[in-house]
Amino acid sequence: MTTYPQVEMLIGGEWIADGGAGTMPVINPATEQALGTCPKASTEQLDAALAAAEEAFPKWAATPGAERHRIIKRAAELVRERAPDIARIVTLEEGKPHAQALGETTGSADLIEFLGEEAKRQGGRLVPVRGSHLLEQRVTQEPIGPAMLFTPWNFPINLPAKKLAGALAAGCSCILKPAETTPASAQALVRCFVDAGVPAGAINCVYGDPAMISEHLITAPATRKVSFTGSTAVGKQLGALAAQGLKRFTAELGGHAPVVIGESADFERTIAACVGTKFRNAGQVCVSPTRFLVARGIYDRFVAEFAARSKDLKVGDASADESVTMGPLAHAGRVAAMEELMGAMGGTNGEIVSGGARVESPSGFFFQPTVIANPSPDSRLMREEPFGPVAGIVPYDDIADAVQIANSLRYGLAAYAFTADLDESHYLGGSLRAGMVAINHFAVGSPETPFGGTGDSGFGSESGVEGYLGYTETKLVSVAKSAP
Ligand code: NAD
Repeated sequence: MTTYPQVEMLIGGEWIADGGAGTMPVINPATEQALGTCPKASTEQLDAALAAAEEAFPKWAATPGAERHRIIKRAAELVRERAPDIARIVTLEEGKPHAQALGETTGSADLIEFLGEEAKRQGGRLVPVRGSHLLEQRVTQEPIGPAMLFTPWNFPINLPAKKLAGALAAGCSCILKPAETTPASAQALVRCFVDAGVPAGAINCVYGDPAMISEHLITAPATRKVSFTGSTAVGKQLGALAAQGLKRFTAELGGHAPVVIGESADFERTIAACVGTKFRNAGQVCVSPTRFLVARGIYDRFVAEFAARSKDLKVGDASADESVTMGPLAHAGRVAAMEELMGAMGGTNGEIVSGGARVESPSGFFFQPTVIANPSPDSRLMREEPFGPVAGIVPYDDIADAVQIANSLRYGLAAYAFTADLDESHYLGGSLRAGMVAINHFAVGSPETPFGGTGDSGFGSESGVEGYLGYTETKLVSVAKSAP
């Protein structure tokens, strides 16, 4: 039995339980019971966090990269050591099964370690000089300054880990505002950085009203960088605020990932991968496969098999039953959104082959794994990100048509394809428009590779070397032999 911790903010090295703007309850989405409360920051507390981040920045930026790496590597070790306990908090707050929460946490440790290592690796470059009067042209990547980090609830460890490790490795101080529904998960992660030796003020964590906090922090003069993960609508608002102050902005927004499945694909492996990935975290994943475009020759078998396997999933309270394979949605609003989507089914909007309704249970925000056949490419399901356990499956005759449907939205986060045909594989890799394309697998989130999108899915990348460089700005130092 995991006890839910007291949630505290971290401001200037002090853990603070009293929210100047009161408290808010934290709800277990599987039971609808309150787990505890979370303090809400007041504007005075936000100003204190901003002052702490501003004061800590020059010292942390001047800390040698090797020392920053040593501290961040220790934080990664602590995340690994504490992973079982952290994962239990994630399951309580977010609902995902323990194995998924554990995988997220240990994977985050790898990510933190990789980004920490960049502090040792990134040394800038020397550029050959044009004139003999010049001695040296040195280009370096300088930490931008205090960074404001906003993260959602669906990956409450992985998403803050990417931002915190990237910012701290680059030498930025930061303020994290995690989702109000998963504050203790973020707190457990932040504690690892603090216990590893990140100095007071270099890392801060506040909770509360998202709109008030984001506006206050982004418009503050001290802020130099903003990084947001969440919906496209909110990303546009925050991007506009950042642009007013010419502050650098990274946006990791929604997606509606297509999966093109060719006739030559290994059917067994492909269907197993598709069903397993579709319902991970109840489909609440920005890179979740949602639009399945399947060659007509295998279409009927694919739909039937998808529906049969989705019925095998065990939906329930993963914090009470380890055999559960799909947890609840994050909050009541997500269930209502799924019901509204299902209400329009029929005709060109598609046919419900399995699922399609909330799970009847006394409590908890559960929705059935759902398979929709033949939605028209213009239907709402195929155009709006469902962010839930829903798969739309469409047949195609010509691979070029599949690519056209795949590329027809303004989203462009992840795209996938399954094929055993080498030519088709090259064609799809080149023609699918997305920040990340994976062929014959779904794993786009490794520590070493950039994660990010295009179009309405945002811009800028996290993880990979890009996850470090996003917190830096380019500086040239040009030295002449003597004054002209
Ligand atoms: P929501 O917009 O109410 O909340 C999503 C997240 O955004 C929450 O963590 C919330 O704290 C944050 N947020 C909301 N307004 C904010 C603001 N003004 N400033 C800063 N943060 C703010 O939506 P929801 O119903 O909880 O989730 C569904 C939507 O959110 C979908 O559109 C989905 O794409 C998006 N989402 C995306 C991701 C992702 O990984 N890209 C993760 C979670 C949610």
